[in-house]
Amino acid sequence: MTTDTIVALSTPLGVAALAVIRLSGPESHAVIAQLVTAKIDATPGRAHYRTLARDGQTLDDAVLTFWRAPHSYTGEDTVEISCHGNPHIVEAIVRACLELGARAARPGEFTQRAFLNDKLSLTQAEGLLDLLYAPTERALASARAMKEGKLGAALEAMRAELVDLLSHVEASLDFAEEGIEPRVGEEFSQRVQNVRGQIAQLIRTAPLGRILQEGALTVIVGEPNVGKSSLLNALLREDRAIVAPTPGTTRDIIDAMCSVRGLPLRLIDTAGQRDSTDPVEIEGNRRARALLPNAQLLLHVVEAHVPYAPAKIELPPDVPQILIANKSDLGRDTSLPAEAILLSAKTGAGLDELEQKIEAALLAGVTDETETALTINARQDATLQRAAAALDRALDVLRDARGLEIVSLELRDALHELAEVIGATDNEDILTRLFQNFCIGK
Ligand code: GDP
Repeated sequence: MTTDTIVALSTPLGVAALAVIRLSGPESHAVIAQLVTAKIDATPGRAHYRTLARDGQTLDDAVLTFWRAPHSYTGEDTVEISCHGNPHIVEAIVRACLELGARAARPGEFTQRAFLNDKLSLTQAEGLLDLLYAPTERALASARAMKEGKLGAALEAMRAELVDLLSHVEASLDFAEEGIEPRVGEEFSQRVQNVRGQIAQLIRTAPLGRILQEGALTVIVGEPNVGKSSLLNALLREDRAIVAPTPGTTRDIIDAMCSVRGLPLRLIDTAGQRDSTDPVEIEGNRRARALLPNAQLLLHVVEAHVPYAPAKIELPPDVPQILIANKSDLGRDTSLPAEAILLSAKTGAGLDELEQKIEAALLAGVTDETETALTINARQDATLQRAAAALDRALDVLRDARGLEIVSLELRDALHELAEVIGATDNEDILTRLFQNFCIGK
């Protein structure tokens, strides 16, 4: 049980109209009571405008909002202090709270408490994290679906179905001893198959989920001067994505993050395949090329008005490629392959078609619209893969009419994995890793 009271600034540190400091824990109301000059009744859901002072020194005039456990974000007694957005004011108020017994919150600790107090599930907490960092609108929509508990609800339904199926297996095992017909026939296998299908559908969304969170690694290749930088600028001009510095990802050679039809792209320009003597350019080029095999999309740029020549560097065959014939305003050479998209980075002609093609390439593995609305992350993917494998083994056993004991074990295994996705098991490691990725104050 959590007993201490935590405090942190929940808005970015810097000069702003307002800053919000959050306190959560059993002593949060008492801490604030010592900072206000006039007596305060901490009526939940009501805001109070008060002067905060410590040792006779005014700290600031602030608006205080109170929540009573369990009706708060964290499920604990909570106070939000909206003060003036000056870092010195914020520091003085936070310091005063610390002196009065509160402790500085760790990253994500408010949300961790919300999770521990059953205010939100693990997948909802993950959705919340994605929501904060979502680089484009589409990423935001998917994060919101997860935060609203859509994944959790789908998994709970599968769990209920598996529990029911397991009860049939157990009953059959019991009755078998008494010579009663087992209840695990064709229909039973079909139901296991259905759950397996639903898991497969979720697993198919994982690559898109990764793209939505991190941006599709898109490498622009082509000879010097064909218009790679111009293409980059053309893609960036509209609908620029928010660059989200998710902890733990290196972005040092990424030129730009942009949004194409709501899909985030991490665009990398290979700076031409020429033999440069500039050591910085050589190094940049080397790093960009090293990324080629990991790319999710290659944009191969050539000039539309000159005879076509294939790329001089080797392009990984399994990465989707789009051939772009730029400078189409200068004409079109007959040698251009039919699949080339005609573009003029200069006039913008062909940009729409290119963006459609990029969208189609990135959504290639996703079969229908509902799958794009809710995507899963890498952790969920790995766990669901294990659940799927357990169900496959159960189905194998059922097909060969082997021991029901094994079916029971495999169903339990699958149930355990589903519970792990939802966060119903005690996995300290997963929790620590997740909440570390939040900012302090969330
Ligand atoms: P990079 O070396 O491949 O990055 O090529 P740049 O983007 O720097 O472009 C090289 C030159 O081609 C510049 O002078 C651009 O203005 C010009 N350019 C780029 N795109 C077009 C285009 O669509 N039409 C025309 N006419 N010129 C272009």
